[in-house]
This record gives sequence, structure tokens and C-alpha cells, in this order.
Amino acid sequence: MTPGSTYDSLLRDAAAALSAAGLDNVRFEARLLLARAAGLSVEQLVARGNEPAPAAVAAALRELTARRVQREPMAYILGEREFWGLPFKVSPAVLVPRPDSETVIEAALALLADRAPPWRILDLGLGSGCLLLTLLHEFRAARGVGLEISEAALAVARTNAAALHVEDRAELLLGDWRQPDWHDQVGGPFDLLVSNPPYIEAGAIAGLMPEVSRFEPKLALDGGADGLAAYRAIAAEAPRLVTPGGRLLLEAGEGQAPEIHKIFQSTGFTPEAPWKDLGGIDRVVSLRY
Ligand code: GLN
Repeated sequence: MTPGSTYDSLLRDAAAALSAAGLDNVRFEARLLLARAAGLSVEQLVARGNEPAPAAVAAALRELTARRVQREPMAYILGEREFWGLPFKVSPAVLVPRPDSETVIEAALALLADRAPPWRILDLGLGSGCLLLTLLHEFRAARGVGLEISEAALAVARTNAAALHVEDRAELLLGDWRQPDWHDQVGGPFDLLVSNPPYIEAGAIAGLMPEVSRFEPKLALDGGADGLAAYRAIAAEAPRLVTPGGRLLLEAGEGQAPEIHKIFQSTGFTPEAPWKDLGGIDRVVSLRY
């Protein structure tokens, strides 16, 4: 990255560094990092490809590229990630919103086909708020409660609620639904309870891709020894939280749906067919009360 660098040559250098680190989609990522370093949109960058780039841009890009080479998720480096077509702020305090989790939204829109009623929605383990806030955005009269154990995550969710203009209908609470009696805090009953709880077996976290194992919050991943601890906590309280005819939509890991159905066996909830993600995996467990 000599003083004579153009935007295009910076892009090539960054892509080469990402490629040497074994990453995929390196042109795509390098372009986003360069846009961030330059304070330009990707479109503006393309138009300026042959122009000389300021040394400060080259230095900023080197720093961002080094973070990505260390496997820091792009979403943390950029501070945002799109979910259901909506922009969400993210920080290392929250799980990066994933396309898999959009399956929860898809299921909710299909099951609560009428968008107008003032549905009451509860989200356990808010994180960025991508589930609850997207639902409040889609169901324009719905009201939501979100419970989150991490203060730093709650701050991110509040920022997102305001940015999406749903903060008046969202009650975002600090609390720990792993503790007994948390249901008093959230009120209810709710027409819909959604959650993307931690569901990775504790012993498997270290073996996940480095973006996840080294950077994403353990609180959002660690589902205890068998990965199912959070579902047990939810099953214990769900009958008091959900209105008759209401639903639970719970994100799950691959192969967990039958186990989760067992956990809910004598709770009064009837399992429905799980919803598949784009990879064809049973991703969202649906239970009707
Ligand atoms: N989907 C995440 C992963 O596979 C896990 C999220 C979670 O535990 N809720 O890395």
C-alpha cells in the first residue's frame, strides 16, 4: 500500500490478505471494508476505482483487514447486519443476526396471518432485538416484551427499537429467564412467544468456526451440556405465559426438534411441523397451546 495506491489497488491488496488467511468471498468483503475505511458507499467506490486513495484510507483499511484476518465477524467490524431486509446495529455483546433466524419471522407471518390485531409478543433472549423488533415492524399494532440478561445487549436492542420506530410498542427488560420465577417480570399472557435461545452443546463451542467460537457471546450460544437447557427453562414457564391458542416459535439446532418436543410433552403444548431454514434443516419448533 504505497502512497501511489488507487482504490482498486487497495481493494486487490485487501482481498489478497483475506484470501491468504483462508477466507471466502474475499472481493465482496474487501469491498465492504474499503467502503467503510473510505467513508464511501460501495457504488461510490466503484466509480472511483482508478483514483488515488488518501494514505489515511489505506491505513484504516489495513486495520479493518487485520481484524477480519483474525476472524472477527464482518458484522462486528462494520457494526451492522441486515435482517429481514431491515438494518440492525450489532456489537460483540449480541449474536450476529443470521438468515436461519429469519425462519422465525416467516413462521410468525404465516401463523398469525392477520397483521392488524394488537398481538402480544414475548422474546426471550433479545440480543440485537432482530426477532422481536422485526415482528413489531411487521405487525403494526402488536406490542412486545423482550427479556435480555446482558445490559450491553439490551442497549443495542434499544438503539435498534428506536431506529425502527417501534420503541413505543416494545418493553425491553433486563432479566434472567434462566432463574426461577422470571415470568412475573414479563407479564402476559402472550399470543406468541419467540426465542433464539442458546442451543449449542457447551463442549462443542470450541469446535465451531472461529468467527463464532472466538467472538460471539457465550451467553447466546451455550445451551448447557446437552444444548437443551434453555428449552427446559422455557417449558417450565410457558404455560403461564402463553394464551390458549397461542404459540411458541423456538429456533433450534440441527436435529434438536424431536428432543424439544419431548421436553414440552406434558406442558399442554402440541407440536406442529417444524419450519425449515433455507438449508432444509428443521430450524424452528412450533408449539400450539
Ligand atoms: N445459530 C448459531 C450457530 O449455529 C447458534 C445460535 C444459538 O445458539 N442460538 O452458531
